[in-house]
Amino acid sequence: MANKQIERCFLCGRVKDEVNQLVKGKFGYVCDECIHEAYEVLNDEEEEHIIHNIQLATPRQIKEHLDQYVIGQDDAKMTLSVAVYNHYKRLRQSKKSDVEIQKSNILMIGSTGSGKTYLAQSLARFLGVPLTIADATTLTQAGYVGEDVENILLRLLENADYDVKRAEQGVIYIDEIDKIAMKGENTSITRDVGGEGVQQALLKIIEGTVSRVPLSGGRKHPQAECVNIDTSNILFICGGAFDGLEKIVYKKSDDKSIGFNADIKSVYDTSTLDLSDVQQHDLVKYGLMPELIGRLPIVTTLQPLAEGNLIRILTEPKNALTKQYKELLAMDGVKLEFEADALKRIAELAIKKKIGARGLRSIIEKAMQNVMYTIPDLSEAKKVVVTSGVIDGTEEAVIYGARNKKIA
Ligand code: ADP
Repeated sequence: MANKQIERCFLCGRVKDEVNQLVKGKFGYVCDECIHEAYEVLNDEEEEHIIHNIQLATPRQIKEHLDQYVIGQDDAKMTLSVAVYNHYKRLRQSKKSDVEIQKSNILMIGSTGSGKTYLAQSLARFLGVPLTIADATTLTQAGYVGEDVENILLRLLENADYDVKRAEQGVIYIDEIDKIAMKGENTSITRDVGGEGVQQALLKIIEGTVSRVPLSGGRKHPQAECVNIDTSNILFICGGAFDGLEKIVYKKSDDKSIGFNADIKSVYDTSTLDLSDVQQHDLVKYGLMPELIGRLPIVTTLQPLAEGNLIRILTEPKNALTKQYKELLAMDGVKLEFEADALKRIAELAIKKKIGARGLRSIIEKAMQNVMYTIPDLSEAKKVVVTSGVIDGTEEAVIYGARNKKIA
C-alpha cells in the first residue's frame, strides 16, 4: 500500500505543524489562515455591495423624491440631496486615493414643524438605509441619569435588524441640538441639560469612533454583551429651531450697516428673518462647541411654513392628510370634499399655534371627529362637504345622499 499522504492545505501548501488548524473539506485540507483570508475578502465584497446599492441616485433624483413628500424648503432639499450624494460617494471612494473627502454631516436650522425630521425620514426611506431619530435633550454625559449616546447607536442597530454593517452606513438624526447649547450671552436658552458634556459625547460619535454598544441597552456594565460600531461612515443630521439666533446674525450685520436704525425694531420682531447667511461663529456664539460645528460642515435653513405651503401640505403629498381622510371615507362609499375656505382655516389655525405643519393633524382630527363617527351608520350618505365652520366647530359637515340631495 502507498505511504499515507501528508496532510497539507490545498491553497497554501502548509502542513499541519506550520498552522494552527487544518480543516478537512470535500476536496482536501484547508488551513485556518486561508479560511480567515477568504472570509475577509468575502466581507469586503459584501461591504462594497451595500455601498453600491445605496449610491444609485443623483442629487436631482434624490430631490425629486423628496419633492413628493416635502413641500417647499427647496434650499434645504437641494443641500441635503447634494450632501447625501457626496456622502455615499465618499464611501465608495477608492481606498488608494490620497484625497480624504470630509464627511458631509448636516445641520438643519428651522422652526418647529417646518419639516426637519420629515426630511431626514424621507431621505433615509429613499436610500433604504436605517435611520434613528434621537432627541438631544434626553442625552446626558456618561454617568448621569438619562440616555447615553451609545443608546442612539443601539437603536440604529435595531433598525438595521442587528446588521452591524448596515447600521454603520445609516443615518442618525439628532433633534433639538440647539437645546444643548452652553449657556452664554444668549438669554433665550432656558435649559442647559449638561451642555458641554453632552456636546463632547456627541462630538465623539459624530467625528467617527468605534463605540462599544451594550446590546441590552441602558447602562454599560461589565457583563453586558457588547458590539463594536464604527461611526465614521454614519451620516449625522442635526436639527434645531435655534430661537434667538437671528438676533446674533442680525447684530453682526447691524454692526456693518449704518443709518437704518429706524428698521431695527421690525427686523427684530420678525420670525422670518433670513438665516441663510448664518456663519459658524454665530453658532459658537449661540453656545455650540466650535469642534462640534466643525463636524457639521453643511448648514441649511428651513423657512417657517406660510399659509400657502400649509395648504399644499394638506392636499399635495402622496400621503397628504386630506387624501388619507378621503381614502378612509371612500371605503364607506362616501366622497369627501374640503372647501377651499376650510383648508385655509386649518392653515390659519396651525400658524396661530406656532408649531408649523405639526399642528395640522390635531386640527383636522378634531374637526373630522363627528363625521368619522356618524358616516359609517348613514348608509344613504354619498358625499360629505367640510366647510370652514366645521373646522371652527360652529357648523356640522354637509352630507349629501343619492342625486346630490342634502340629507344633513
Ligand atoms: P420639525 O422636525 O421641523 O419640528 P417635523 O418634520 O417633525 O418638524 O414635522 C412634523 C410633521 O409635519 C411631519 O411629520 C410632516 O407630516 C409634516 N410636515 C412638516 N413640514 C412639512 C413639509 N415641508 N412638507 C410636508 N409635510 C411637512
